[in-house]
Amino acid sequence: MSVTTETQNYLNYINGKWSESESSEQLKSTSPANPEEVLGHVQASTKQDLERAVAAAKEGQKKWKKLSGAERGNLLFKVADILENNIEEIAETMTREMGKTLPEAKGETNRGVAILRYYAGEGMRKEGDVIPSTDSSALMFSKRVPLGVVGVITPWNFPVAIPLWKMVPALIYGNTVILKPATEASVTAAKVIECFDKAGLPEGVVNFVTGKGSVIGQGLAEHKDVTAVTFTGSNATGNHIGQTVAARGGKYQLEMGGKNPLIVADDCDLDLAVDAAISGGLKSTGQKCTCSSRVIVQAGVYDKFKQKLLEKVSEINVGDGLEAQSWMGPCANKEQYETVQKYIEIGQKEGAALVYGGHTIDNGTNGYYIEPTVFDEVSTTMKIAQEEIFGPVLALMKVETIEEAIELANDVDFGLSASIFSKNIDHILSFIDDIEAGLVRINSETAGVELQAPFGGMKASSSYSREQGEAAKEFFTTMKTVFLKG
Ligand code: NAP
Repeated sequence: MSVTTETQNYLNYINGKWSESESSEQLKSTSPANPEEVLGHVQASTKQDLERAVAAAKEGQKKWKKLSGAERGNLLFKVADILENNIEEIAETMTREMGKTLPEAKGETNRGVAILRYYAGEGMRKEGDVIPSTDSSALMFSKRVPLGVVGVITPWNFPVAIPLWKMVPALIYGNTVILKPATEASVTAAKVIECFDKAGLPEGVVNFVTGKGSVIGQGLAEHKDVTAVTFTGSNATGNHIGQTVAARGGKYQLEMGGKNPLIVADDCDLDLAVDAAISGGLKSTGQKCTCSSRVIVQAGVYDKFKQKLLEKVSEINVGDGLEAQSWMGPCANKEQYETVQKYIEIGQKEGAALVYGGHTIDNGTNGYYIEPTVFDEVSTTMKIAQEEIFGPVLALMKVETIEEAIELANDVDFGLSASIFSKNIDHILSFIDDIEAGLVRINSETAGVELQAPFGGMKASSSYSREQGEAAKEFFTTMKTVFLKG
């Protein structure tokens, strides 16, 4: 069998084979630009399907961990080549399935290729340290070893990069994985798994089980043979998963929401700051955990900044993401579309001034389109300044001093990414010291970071472990300390 049946029914991938779920139920994946367009159906898998995947992953890990890191790496290099050869098709599927524009979808898929190559190379790096023993006839050393089976639960907003930046480090360090993708982006994820299948990884090493979060995600969190669970998604789901995994003594990693501030100082390059606020806040329709949803501007440049920002926002072209002229796509799904509308209503009721957008856009196909939206006169106690909207909505806030700006920036539960635009080294240094965020950016939009650097948040944004780069090794391995006496 291949990834789909003739009727675009995407299958699970368990123990090296594409297979139908035991359940007769399927979940439909549709396009947010035109909800009538069906991209395919995925399996509404059952706990029994998951049980088969866990058994396959457990068995597969026995052989996988025996391969050298270089051998595992060579297979991952192959996956990278296959993904690279399929960028166009996978990126187009992503755009159709969740509405990200095609250039962004291609960029994300390219990032996936780079992630695969980076970790494939990691297979050649050291696995531990020699530690001097007080006994001169003994050799003492630490050795990193895999955890076992890793459950990977991912959101819909980065359906290629997020599964890969979790799965690939797990694999290179000798774990086997079960991916449960977001239902809203399962077809894109299936196409990524197809690349692993084509590369010929051994049976049971990569497993893919689609289905409801409350069934398959929950099942992974509860399963005693799933040693670790790595999750990215909302706070409600993440905190629940963390508690479930912790209760059975498993290891977990949670990356969750953000309410990221972008501070604009009086002394900054204003055009740069305007472009960053627009790109950081509205690209991907604001559906990024690192999206700059709060723009905190010093009084001296407030009016000028607002005027330039509104001019540029008015030039934004909203479309289905496939057309070359679309700069911003639709909201990814109906729930998100309704949530954004609800927050726009709340912002107005709370007394913020709606200075741009705020309406839905009728594209003739009932797509989930919302205008880029800007609120002015936002105060920190308002819901639109505190809660993650995950949509194309910017909140402008005015401050007198940089100290006040940093205080306001920190006045939320989240702490993922934060930016300051300034040329003053004192302002920049106090921002680096005092901002409560895992990703600290100077004269650069709020965003993630390059794949070789640690990624993660503080406060409610994260469980404080870090993803990417060398930090990934910390989560996906554990350590043995060996004392060897001849
Ligand atoms: P979500 O609703 O929490 O879903 C995330 C994943 O969890 C999906 O695969 C979902 O499956 C699954 N799930 C749902 N209920 C579950 C349960 N009871 N047990 C186990 N798994 C369950 O999040 P989302 O709406 O997809 O993504 C948006 C959120 O992700 C935002 O809050 C955003 O900030 C966050 N995010 C954070 C980062 C970061 O790195 N910090 C990056 C990207 C996104 P179904 O799809 O089947 O429901």
